[in-house]
Amino acid sequence: MDGFVDEVNITVEAGDGGDGAVSFHREKYVAAGGPDGGDGGKGGDIVFLVDDNLNTLIDFRYKRKFKAERGENGQGSRKFGRSAEDLVIRVPRGTVVSDRESGRVIADMSGSEPVVIAKGGRGGRGNAHFATPTRQIPRFAKPGFKGQKLDLHLELKLLADVGLVGFPNVGKSTLISVVSAAKPKIANYHFTTLIPNLGVVKISDENSFVIADIPGLIEGASEGVGLGHEFLRHVERCRLILHIVDVSGSEGRDPKDDYEIINRELRSFSEELVNAPQIVAANKCDMANDEQIALFKEYIESKGVPFYAISAATTEGTKELMNEVYKALKGLPPLKVFEAEPEPLWQEPEPDKMSFEITEDDGVYFVDADWLEGILRTADMEDYESLQHFQLVLKTSGIIDELIKRGVKEGDTVSVGGFEFDYVE
Ligand code: GDP
Ligand code: MG
Repeated sequence: MDGFVDEVNITVEAGDGGDGAVSFHREKYVAAGGPDGGDGGKGGDIVFLVDDNLNTLIDFRYKRKFKAERGENGQGSRKFGRSAEDLVIRVPRGTVVSDRESGRVIADMSGSEPVVIAKGGRGGRGNAHFATPTRQIPRFAKPGFKGQKLDLHLELKLLADVGLVGFPNVGKSTLISVVSAAKPKIANYHFTTLIPNLGVVKISDENSFVIADIPGLIEGASEGVGLGHEFLRHVERCRLILHIVDVSGSEGRDPKDDYEIINRELRSFSEELVNAPQIVAANKCDMANDEQIALFKEYIESKGVPFYAISAATTEGTKELMNEVYKALKGLPPLKVFEAEPEPLWQEPEPDKMSFEITEDDGVYFVDADWLEGILRTADMEDYESLQHFQLVLKTSGIIDELIKRGVKEGDTVSVGGFEFDYVE
């Protein structure tokens, strides 16, 4: 299936923060000035943006790793390091970005707003930050924070109001070519269409809808036979399914069987799909006799499904069909957008996994613990409850006990992952 790639795995890494600087003010005739090391700059974010010139994820087949720049280190004279630029990754509209491991949806790139997918690390604090009346010569600064690293799964789910489904060769491509400006390949053999084609159907100057030709749906597609299952994800968002059936039976099949088989495929892919509103278009009427058409019409209508007879080849009935589709769409909810799921609540690791290291420098206690990264990223330290929870974690992990053992005093600074707290007994 060359040419169309609608599912890829990539890795993104936001930039690390720059390191804080250790520096002291120098002036002629002044022996030793105060600390003036500036903070490091922030690492670049990984930002996703929709680009309507793209219609597949093929570029990601060749480039799968993305890393944003690191923030600049701080410098003397309280000079802050420059923050790195964000790395912008362009994707086709309709790309659903999820976390590969958990399957959590991070973003549905169907709007035009840029979305931050991975956050750059904050810069480390320079030593200017650590001066207090009792500690005038802090000879330390903090390194920058790590940028967020994520393994992502990208899936393109086209944004079409109407999904065309049906057996190969029933005339889907032909129909889309006569009702829109799209010019897909049309040929009398199976699997001519390997790329879902999008076409805009204009009803009037102001009113239009988007129709997608979902190719190659055949029996067994949902179990991986044929190519159809690859494409079924594109109908997931559709508001209406237009089911095309060759009523003439030109390939020796019974139109009723075709109809049932395709619906079975839809059902085994997702129950939601088969329950989506459907309209049946009996195509190739120019080749069918009246009895064939009447029998099939009766069968479909007995199921309460709207039925239209057309010939895509002669365009007979196609305009009327599009008007009916448009009318039906008006009464239907808008295109499905996948909700971004929030980052899961931080899970406290097993007690034996909560190792940490405390270093003390001139009344500042630095706590280093990798496992705290998650809580520091998600917690809002301005929020009372978050803070309470955070303090509880410091207690249960034994960090508080260790601080006390190390002689922490009221008013000392405790620095955890770049947040500084005054120690209060
Ligand atoms: P798809 O595989 O469903 O996209 O089918 P195509 O649009 O590629 O059409 C398959 C074959 O059927 C082509 O040879 C078309 O010319 C032919 N065809 C499509 N619609 C009609 C029709 O209404 N009447 C007749 N006689 N042939 C048609
Ligand atoms: Mg086709």
